[in-house]
Parts: sequence; C-alpha cells; structure tokens
Amino acid sequence: MDGCLFCRIIKGEIPCSKVYEDEEVFAFHDISPQAPVHILVLPKKHIPDLSEMKEEDCGLMGKLVWAASSIAREKGFAGSGFRLVVNTKESAGQSVFHVHMHLMSGRNFHWPPG
Ligand code: 5GP
Ligand code: ZN
Repeated sequence: MDGCLFCRIIKGEIPCSKVYEDEEVFAFHDISPQAPVHILVLPKKHIPDLSEMKEEDCGLMGKLVWAASSIAREKGFAGSGFRLVVNTKESAGQSVFHVHMHLMSGRNFHWPPG
C-alpha cells in the first residue's frame, strides 16, 4: 500500500535487517529493540491492524505464528522463552498500521505488561 512504511520495507525501498522471507511472510529486526532479541514478523499483505483481519486471513496469520516459532528455534531462543505481541490501535501502543507481531526474547518480561 502506498505510503505504508512496512510495505516499503517489504518492497526493498527502505533498508532493513531481514531475518526471514517467504511468499507471504517477512521478518526483520526492530530498529529500536526493547529486548536483546526484537524481531517484527508481518504478512506481506497490507492489513492495517488485527481488527481488520478477515476469516480468509486465518491461514496467513497462522503462518505468521509458525514463522515466529521457527525463527525462535533456528536462532536458539525457543527453549529459553519468548513473547509474541500484536499491538492493535494507538491505545494499545500501535504506531505502524500494517499488522505485525513483535517477537521478543533474551530477558525476563513482566506480567501484566504496561
Ligand atoms: P508498533 O508500535 O506499531 O507496535 O510497532 C512498530 C515497531 O516498528 C516499533 O517497535 C518501531 O521501533 C519499529 N519501527 C518503526 N520504524 C521502523 C523502521 O524504519 N525500521 C525498523 N526496522 N523498525 C521500525
Ligand atoms: Zn503496509
């Protein structure tokens, strides 16, 4: 989608530190990491936020979770634990409106989150 930061990163118009890519999924390191491991996992399809997910996106969203889990295994932090977060709308902390999962690891996380 024109003007979307993450669509531009996926297209290669803006550089990123890529972690994983397939036909439907893209993952790269967050520019402002909030944990020793902080990777963003997103669909190539432009969906603004989770509230706009459709039933037809179920497989795609499942694939995102699978990609995150695979990245965790391949990078060796699956066993020590990780957190997967999807901020939805400004009130929940969303600042880029192309749906994405934060895959975070390498430190202890608090519950409930702030
Ligand atoms: P949100 O706040 O929408 O849940 O998450 C957006 C994330 O994108 C933030 O953690 C922010 O640091 C990251 N981010 C914003 N702009 C860029 C960028 O240009 N490159 C990368 N790699 N990450 C970005
Ligand atoms: Zn987009």
